[in-house]
Amino acid sequence: MSLEKVKCIVCSSENYSQFLKVQNRFKLTESFKLVSCECGLIFLNPRPVESEIYKYYQSNHYDPHIKKKKNYIFDTIYNSIKKRAFKRKFKIISKFLPFKNNLSHLDIGGGMGEFCDFMKNKGYFTQNYDSSQTAIAISKLNKINTLNSLNQVESNSIDCITGWHSIEHIHNIDSLLKNMHRILKNEKFLFLCVPNYKSIDQYFFKEKWVAWDAPRHLYHFNPKVLKNLLENYKFKVVYNESLLQDTGYNILMSMNKNSILSIINSIFIMIYSYFKILIHGYNKSSSFIVVCQKQ
Ligand SMILES: [Zn+2]
Repeated sequence: MSLEKVKCIVCSSENYSQFLKVQNRFKLTESFKLVSCECGLIFLNPRPVESEIYKYYQSNHYDPHIKKKKNYIFDTIYNSIKKRAFKRKFKIISKFLPFKNNLSHLDIGGGMGEFCDFMKNKGYFTQNYDSSQTAIAISKLNKINTLNSLNQVESNSIDCITGWHSIEHIHNIDSLLKNMHRILKNEKFLFLCVPNYKSIDQYFFKEKWVAWDAPRHLYHFNPKVLKNLLENYKFKVVYNESLLQDTGYNILMSMNKNSILSIINSIFIMIYSYFKILIHGYNKSSSFIVVCQKQ
């Protein structure tokens, strides 16, 4: 495995401090270092090089790239939560982009194309951009227009770009953000959702927090630091919201399911988390949605 050292993607600083050592949840003997920058960004450093990262997506347990699972109960819950999240995301999109014919949509890191399929059924012309060969093959089978590079997309041609839990995976985020700005029509919107390391569940689970997901997640944001990154690329943040489903999912995935004590503890963490989100909103939720407008 080849590792590379990187600078902060928000402020270019190399003045970061060690933050936490986290395990690869699919191979517990392997661990990675997270560093914390003075600007608020937490990032994996050193990290696997881009040409080798695909190896870490090949686990049979990596949820976004699994078509059929064996655990029926988990499957049903996971799919039902995902469906509700799609509806919620669509409601937010519709608020900023009222529907009319021939609207174009591009999903960044859309995996097997499930959200694109949802948008297609709502009447959008949609395209899925992903770098996973397995995901691309399934997306094509599902008759979704699929891209493996954004360079082929015409400038000022897209009405709506979404990136649900994807930008934290991208090595060359500078190129991605520049490309997204180039292809989006003027004053149109980019919709993102990322994990929030300021969440209550992160505070309780610490190095066991599932959303660290090393080495697949390269960056960890809070609402303020993501706003700063987006502003560097001339995107103005106009709206934030909690993605409530992710708090339950993260707690379920972070807890030790073999320990009754951990399960009971997790139930209390869940109740406490939702209570805090009710008071403080997206600043304390596991994941937050950000809507930004091209300037
Ligand atoms: Zn920084």
